[in-house]
Amino acid sequence: MIPGPFEFVRAASVEEAVAALVAHGDDAKVIAGGHSLLPLMKLRLAMPAVLVDIGRIPGLSYVRVEGDEVAIGAGIRHHELERDEVAGAEVPILPHAAGQVGDPQVRHRGTLGGTVAHSDPASDLPTALLALGGSVVVQGPDGRRSIPLTEFWLGFFETALQPEELVVELRVPRTGPAGWAYEKFTRRANDWPIVAVAAVDGRVALANMAGTVVRATATEEALARGASIAEAAALAADGTSPSADMHADQEYRRHLARLLTRRALEKAAGVGVTAA
Ligand SMILES: Cc1cc2nc3c(=O)[nH]c(=O)nc-3n(C[C@H](O)[C@H](O)[C@H](O)COP(=O)(O)OP(=O)(O)OC[C@H]3O[C@@H](n4cnc5c(N)ncnc54)[C@H](O)[C@@H]3O)c2cc1C
Repeated sequence: MIPGPFEFVRAASVEEAVAALVAHGDDAKVIAGGHSLLPLMKLRLAMPAVLVDIGRIPGLSYVRVEGDEVAIGAGIRHHELERDEVAGAEVPILPHAAGQVGDPQVRHRGTLGGTVAHSDPASDLPTALLALGGSVVVQGPDGRRSIPLTEFWLGFFETALQPEELVVELRVPRTGPAGWAYEKFTRRANDWPIVAVAAVDGRVALANMAGTVVRATATEEALARGASIAEAAALAADGTSPSADMHADQEYRRHLARLLTRRALEKAAGVGVTAA
């Protein structure tokens, strides 16, 4: 469980980090909180020759309202997001989802940019972000560009990010206090979700139901044409391809997706939650 040898570069700015990524190409890997990358390195599933540490770049941790959107710095730790008052007032699903991630140690180290860039389909915050809609702002040698969240996650551990680009900001629409819910099913407290569902204003996103976090499009379309919550939630697993593992087979995950979607939609609508 000891990583292979690597060179360590501590970047003092986003520009320095990008320059290091350009200089070292495919041999380099960004490290932020290290709570996804280091386990992979210890298992030697990742063996970067150069680690570019962005964890101490100043000015990457913020939450601010900009017009109709909330802009969130990629360096914000899950723990900071969980307690952020602006996020709590403007996009409360995000602090709530941040509080669901792992245990306090993970939440004190892990970053929003890290969990977005990692593209694990079981991740809590990307699921909530996908239900919110919005975009990822990335910075590379040619400057900044914005990628819609619906186009960012391409597969398991695969994103639209280029090797020399950094995630620097997330931008999501302001929702206000109501109309959202996050339902996470775990075997034990602090675990990754077996399945999780985020619902925001009629948009529904699912964790662990495909190779990336995904929108429950059949459910969303049913809601848009006026179907009841029960009818729409019954379609939540349509078009998904959940994996099977020691925790749950595919059919159980589909069942959870339908059940948790109904609960999330009922909570988001402020109606009583059906028990079973
Ligand atoms: C015990 C444990 C339990 C956990 N439980 C949960 C859970 O319940 N739910 C959940 O959602 N997550 C969970 N996590 C994952 C946790 O949220 C991680 O912190 C997060 O996924 C990665 O964030 P990080 O800052 O640690 O990223 P790192 O590990 O530093 O990096 C992860 C990947 O993203 C890249 N990267 C990081 N930052 C950037 C950036 N700004 N731009 C471009 N690329 C970047 C890295 O190169 C690497 O490929 C758990 C982790 C552990 C160790």
